[in-house]
Amino acid sequence: MSAQPEVAADLVARLGAIVGARGLVTDPGEMAPYLTDWRELYQGRAAAVTRPASTGEVAAIVRLCAETRTPVVPQGGNTGMCGAATPDASGNAIVLNLARMNRIIELDALNNTVAVEAGCILANIQQAALAADRFFPLSLGAEGSCQIGGNLATNAGGINVLRYGNARDLVLGLEVVVADGRIWSGLRSLRKDNTGYDLKHLFIGAEGTLGIITKAVLKLFPLPRSSVTALAAMPCAEAAVELLALLRNHCGDRISAFEIMSRNCLDMVFRHIPGTRDSLPAIQPWYVLAELSDTRAGSALRDEFERALAEGIARKFVGDAVIAENQAQAQALWRLRETIPEAARVEGLVYRHDIAVAVSRIPAFIAAASRALETRFPGVRIICFGHVGDGNLHFNAFVPGRERDDAEARAAIDVNRVVHGIVQQFGGSISAEHGIGQSKRDELRRHKSEIELALMRTLKKALDPHNLMNPGKVL
Ligand SMILES: Cc1cc2nc3c(=O)[nH]c(=O)nc-3n(C[C@H](O)[C@H](O)[C@H](O)COP(=O)(O)OP(=O)(O)OC[C@H]3O[C@@H](n4cnc5c(N)ncnc54)[C@H](O)[C@@H]3O)c2cc1C
Repeated sequence: MSAQPEVAADLVARLGAIVGARGLVTDPGEMAPYLTDWRELYQGRAAAVTRPASTGEVAAIVRLCAETRTPVVPQGGNTGMCGAATPDASGNAIVLNLARMNRIIELDALNNTVAVEAGCILANIQQAALAADRFFPLSLGAEGSCQIGGNLATNAGGINVLRYGNARDLVLGLEVVVADGRIWSGLRSLRKDNTGYDLKHLFIGAEGTLGIITKAVLKLFPLPRSSVTALAAMPCAEAAVELLALLRNHCGDRISAFEIMSRNCLDMVFRHIPGTRDSLPAIQPWYVLAELSDTRAGSALRDEFERALAEGIARKFVGDAVIAENQAQAQALWRLRETIPEAARVEGLVYRHDIAVAVSRIPAFIAAASRALETRFPGVRIICFGHVGDGNLHFNAFVPGRERDDAEARAAIDVNRVVHGIVQQFGGSISAEHGIGQSKRDELRRHKSEIELALMRTLKKALDPHNLMNPGKVL
């Protein structure tokens, strides 16, 4: 039920007094982009969209919401895949979008850290690090529009997890506005700090359900001065896992990315993404895009890569391979991988799964899940890609008869149930990097043990007793 009109008007007026005209959106047309998700799967309503410019304003908004029992939906770049930043249909909540809090606060090159506001666009943080001759490794297809606050709230992964870890591993400190509007200033730049519970990890990956991240101190790394990118074609998924082991033997931890794509991912990209083209003459069922990097300039990376690929060809893991000759070619190869989600969106209604299993079990998982889907949905088209080095696959499917992209087809969970059932058999995870949001909330209940759910609920109740922080998400 929506709030009484006069109550809502009073709330909006008080929000306006906190954030001013620039920080408040109430016009329905202007609010619309904030009320639907990237996949356009969820459509919500809200009393207002607020765009605070400082931690003080965030805290004042949250205090007002605590007083009026108004739910708050934190929102970053709104690129999330699980509907986690979209309010429900009641119209009672407000959206709190962090986009105006986009300052790089301080880069400490000697400490290898950068302090940022939560609304910083990920690519801008990468650029700031580069300007200081440093590297911030978090990298994903949405980096031009997702925000670091959203990345931390979802514990984002991306293409460099293999070497640098996921978002959680890249954080030293956080500032958070908690559910009653107090500010927890845990903005530390320390690499060692064993002073009790490590609170920052509660808020990382919590999808805004425990508090609002307003600032972060992030780790920086030495800038890679040489890198080599290659695309390899292969006959089966087993070959990809074998190639990863081979590359590890040859090149150690200089493998920074190792991505798998089924051939039909590439065909879909060629169909829908202008300027993309095939780089290898012979068609094979699977492809790997791998990158090696080194902090030493002119290191012998390319020779080592060539030797490893040649051994792969000799041992029949690799059918054919191309090594990028320059940066432009490397970018063109990366574009093939990074535009798969966009190409799938253009192609039609795709059932997405973001699963993780042990790296060694990836081929068996692909075989078992494909068999299960083909039995249940004859003619299903499986679009499989992902971060093999992390055991993370986006095991997506187009289902015959569901070309009609309507609400009923979108809401159907039968495809997910089949895939998640196989994930469970493999001791895997139903969400490797995208989070739970609203799209996997019910599935989470089926896959977590009672005690895990009970502990999670205890934390939620302790930190957000009135269930105002992004309600209806995760739990
Ligand atoms: C083309 C494309 C490619 C992608 N590739 C990857 C990939 O490789 N790896 C990956 O992990 N993800 C990927 N994603 C998913 C998405 O980009 C990530 O989940 C990203 O981290 C979300 O950031 P955001 O700023 O857009 O957050 P939003 O979508 O705005 O929000 C996501 C969640 O975080 C919460 N939130 C946002 N900001 C805050 C804050 N300041 N404090 C507390 N909670 C907050 C929201 O309430 C919501 O629960 C991809 C998305 C697209 C569109």
